[in-house]
Amino acid sequence: MSVSALEEWQFSSEQGERNYNQALREYPAQVIVDLAALRDNMRHLVDITNREGGPTEVMGVVKADAYGHGLVPSALAALAGGATWLGVAQAREALALRNAGIGVDRARVLTWVNNPLHAPYDDLIAADVDLSVATLTAIQKIAEAARAVGKPARVHIKVDTGFGRNGFTLAQIDSAIDLLLPLVDEGVFEIVGQWSHLAVADAPAVGEFVEKTDEQIRVFEEFTSRLHARGIEPRIRHLANTAATLSRPEIHYDLVRPGVALYGYEADPAMGTPSKYELRPAMTLQAQLSSVKNVGAGEGLSYGRVYVTDEPTSAAIVPVGYADGIHRSASGFNEAGSKHVNKPGAPVRVMTRDGARIFHVSGRVCMDQFILDLHGDAENMGVHIGDTVELFGPGRGEDYLEPTADDWARAADTISYEIFTCLRNRVPRLYANAFEVLDETDLGKLDQSTLL
Ligand SMILES: *Cc1c(COP(=O)(O)O)cnc(C)c1O
Repeated sequence: MSVSALEEWQFSSEQGERNYNQALREYPAQVIVDLAALRDNMRHLVDITNREGGPTEVMGVVKADAYGHGLVPSALAALAGGATWLGVAQAREALALRNAGIGVDRARVLTWVNNPLHAPYDDLIAADVDLSVATLTAIQKIAEAARAVGKPARVHIKVDTGFGRNGFTLAQIDSAIDLLLPLVDEGVFEIVGQWSHLAVADAPAVGEFVEKTDEQIRVFEEFTSRLHARGIEPRIRHLANTAATLSRPEIHYDLVRPGVALYGYEADPAMGTPSKYELRPAMTLQAQLSSVKNVGAGEGLSYGRVYVTDEPTSAAIVPVGYADGIHRSASGFNEAGSKHVNKPGAPVRVMTRDGARIFHVSGRVCMDQFILDLHGDAENMGVHIGDTVELFGPGRGEDYLEPTADDWARAADTISYEIFTCLRNRVPRLYANAFEVLDETDLGKLDQSTLL
């Protein structure tokens, strides 16, 4: 077994290896995204949504820089896996996809969060981006933009079925229809979709929550009837996020909108592990140790002395901290330090002479670094400065002992989504298997220095 994780990456060429080494020169940590995992996860989602019934299209949700994985590479891998739609929250992300050369022949793009008073609806309509309408103000502003551009706006009517976030309520829907109908007649609005979002679909084992989802489905159908009664027939209805895509096939409708499943995770560990759903986490976060030294017993590690060594040991510094998006809440407290709290920090996989071992964040996560108590002598263990350690990855096998973003989420009292979306862009993103997944044209849309 190798002492560093370095040899484990398969490079496509000498250039790929040079790119990797250049990234190591630039920063002591790297996010490596496996584009084959993204493609395969999407293939699987396309497969399960079309197993019974169908045809159901699949939207790869790539908001928030593709949950921190990188917008354009992730979108292209999702398309390679069979997605026909891409979904983003913000207008600028939708425009970035189009500007990267992902045209309407490749994917419909839907965007849903903006300030209707200032949103660039004109640019979005010109770029063939589908728009969510959830307020009367948005309807008016989109209509003005569509007239100015001289092209109908493709809109999806967002309805609030019990999430309590965006969308028309049952009480508001008739006023919305009053505004919409003349715009359809005028030819400035094309009503493409009716959609909504689920609040508790990630808890399929909690009866009360399953009933709440059932209630949301009933209300969704009622909206369809209310639109139908006024002559509006949206062609595409969509409701399912990852949780419902994986666990409620009866509500796949015409389109599903999985986000976190594309990146290889279930929506909540309460649903089981990624492998239960045949998903493979795509992101690895690794770093190179910047210092390894021996310390005596009774030494406080990091700020606040919340972790104090209880024996002579070695301490290794992992040079990423909360300014990189490492949660401070993933800090580790021990009995000797904090007197009463004993809370292990998040796990890190370190390669030793005897194979992989897990150590935990020891003491507080700092701005740019955190410390691992190695519970032994680093020299004897074969742990050295410059070794690559893994914070999380695909979660490979028992012997491999690889933590996942779910493990980090548990340690930081959050969800995997926040673990990856918080990772700052000062940590370089590198892409594995790009040459296997993408054709030459798509490869040309990517920053070549990021390809392994
Ligand atoms: C983020 C988001 C999704 C995807 O949610 P996941 O739980 O990641 O699958 C789907 N629809 C909407 C409206 C969203 O905001």
